[in-house]
Amino acid sequence: MQKTRYAAAAVAAVAALTLSACGGGDSAESEGGESGSAETVRIGIKFDQPGLGYDEGGSYSGFDVDVAKYVANELGYTEKQIEFVEAPSANRENLLSNSQVDMIFATYSITDTRKETVDFAGPYFVAGQDLLVPTDSDIAGPEDLEGKNLCSVTGSTSAQKIKDQYPGVQLVEQPGYAECVTAMGGGQIDAVTTDDIILAGLAAQESNAGKFKVVGNTFSEENYGVGLPKGSDMCEDINAAITKMIDDGAWEEAITSNTEGADYTFNAELNPPTPAPCA
Ligand code: GLU
Repeated sequence: MQKTRYAAAAVAAVAALTLSACGGGDSAESEGGESGSAETVRIGIKFDQPGLGYDEGGSYSGFDVDVAKYVANELGYTEKQIEFVEAPSANRENLLSNSQVDMIFATYSITDTRKETVDFAGPYFVAGQDLLVPTDSDIAGPEDLEGKNLCSVTGSTSAQKIKDQYPGVQLVEQPGYAECVTAMGGGQIDAVTTDDIILAGLAAQESNAGKFKVVGNTFSEENYGVGLPKGSDMCEDINAAITKMIDDGAWEEAITSNTEGADYTFNAELNPPTPAPCA
């Protein structure tokens, strides 16, 4: 995996050198689409969150993916110029700081702590932290988790909130939410916590049908931003693209189609949000 990524980066670097050596002439047009550029944009997404960012075996689906494609297109990239890179929760800041991706659309909440190391455009969606439990469980909120095994993901706001506010809970951390759900299916875990939209997508997976329910009692506001390297000059253009996506109906279409079949309704009081002024 890692090897492939570096290999791809090396190819991209060579391509960039070749292009600049040619002075950006006709050769650029042969590779790229409308924009006439052979440049690619590396976008970090989740690969294991159905309905948001999901690897369907080389093609990618989900709301984050649709917003990413729309925004990239507005920035002048065709779909074939996008290189999707897996961005697990714990790696997002590093991927941006080490220039391994150009932007991140990965259920990435805007927080003051993260703003110390990365920039954000958006928000483009607002979710809320919730719990996923076995269908027959009577856990109704985080207050019922004392002494219970709760699973969440390393590097997420979801795990952090439990550590800060519910220290009596036995928190088990995994690299991804799908691993948490598998562990709950095996009986080792009593509940999984993260954003409601993520939990709804996992619960709706065919292999999980009928097994779990989202409690429906949110206890945070998660503003999904577009992660950017610190000092990026792309925030204004990305915000303009998000606003356009909301105004022309593509946002609504994307959220509806990607949550179809999942037991999920977005919070219409908070969505669609207005992108915040850029720093
Ligand atoms: N939105 C939360 C976060 O950014 C939880 C989901 C995730 O881990 O991606 O940490």
